Amino acid sequence: MKEIILIKNGEIVLKGLNRNSFEDILIKNMRKALSDIGEFTFTKSQSTIVVESVDGEADLEDAAEALTKVFGIAALSRAAVAEKDMEDIKRVTLEYLSDALSEAKTFKVEAKRSDKKFPYKSPDIQQEMGGFILSKFHHLKVDVHNPELTVTVEVRDKYAFVRGNNIKGAGGMPVSTNGRAAVLISGGIDSPVAAYMMAKRGIELVAVHFASPPYTTELAEEKVMQLLHKVAKYSGPITTYVVPFTEIQEAIRDKCPEDYFTIIMRRYMMKISEKLARHQNCSALITGESVGQVASQTIYALACTDAAVNMPVFRPCIGMDKVEIVNLSRKIDTFETSIQPYEDCCTVFTPKHPKTRAKLPDVIEAEAALDEAPLIQRAFENVRKTVIK
Ligand code: ATP
Ligand code: MG
Repeated sequence: MKEIILIKNGEIVLKGLNRNSFEDILIKNMRKALSDIGEFTFTKSQSTIVVESVDGEADLEDAAEALTKVFGIAALSRAAVAEKDMEDIKRVTLEYLSDALSEAKTFKVEAKRSDKKFPYKSPDIQQEMGGFILSKFHHLKVDVHNPELTVTVEVRDKYAFVRGNNIKGAGGMPVSTNGRAAVLISGGIDSPVAAYMMAKRGIELVAVHFASPPYTTELAEEKVMQLLHKVAKYSGPITTYVVPFTEIQEAIRDKCPEDYFTIIMRRYMMKISEKLARHQNCSALITGESVGQVASQTIYALACTDAAVNMPVFRPCIGMDKVEIVNLSRKIDTFETSIQPYEDCCTVFTPKHPKTRAKLPDVIEAEAALDEAPLIQRAFENVRKTVIK
């Protein structure tokens, strides 16, 4: 019995004329997500894409699992292929869905007939198959409103497909249908979630991480790479820059008023990230900030941070509570990594009384003591680049 995976497109079905190119990008992303599992063909057909293992050997359970992380897919299902013949459809249904039919208490049959030459109309298929299933599984009851199992029979141009319940897809839009942005990634809980949320909207990610050795350790950096590896299961490969930040942090500590330390440091992070972002053809920055979470995230502080760059700054966590962010980080499996206790450069030299109502002119005055251009240039020149998959 041949088995395939059916993909139900998500939001891209709304995109009218662009639909084709959106689907092509989705297929490219699916191919990448499945590259370790096997070689597959992808066939567009109405609002679905049929995914098929070339040699029939690939593990479809692993494939389906990997595809649940690909944005742009509303739902997917594994399906068995039958001849366009009622008897064969019955045979395949028995063979393919016997476990699911034995376990369920209620079911219904849904039929879709895109080949109008098929002699049974959809309601006829439903009736015929419903009766057949009831005759084989005596414990089952039909429930058309809220069945535990929906058996779907789709009669298409060449074959019929038989499947059980759908698997929910990741939703969103295919990565790289909405440009590129650079995410400032720490080892914390929030920034990996922010990265995931923007990738879900179709944005391709570049990552920037600031490290301050010896104040921060290699383990802290390794943790960030682990987080990006988890995000990359959704976003695809992430080009990542590690920026040496020690010299800048020490310069701020030595030359600027202590109250302004954090906010000036944040502005430097933004400036360097903007430079790397432009270098990588990114059109925006992404951070994990949320209003009021810490002193550097009051609206006054955020305004000062924004003013450091000439690029939109996306902060998808901005209106979320910590609990909501944590729930999402558990869902994408970054939480346990994020809570490992390694120093982030943000916790080095933190002031006792950070400015919460900072005003931009005061911040600019406070950072005037720094020799900005060479500091930024040296950090930029000494970045390390890797690609996280
Ligand atoms: P997170 O959980 O993402 O670390 P946070 O609530 O701890 O966020 P901060 O430490 O103030 O907040 O950092 C705010 C944002 O600044 C982070 O979400 C991240 O986008 C960015 N950021 C912080 N530290 C770094 C770093 N070392 N490298 C790159 N970006 C950073
Ligand atoms: Mg942090």
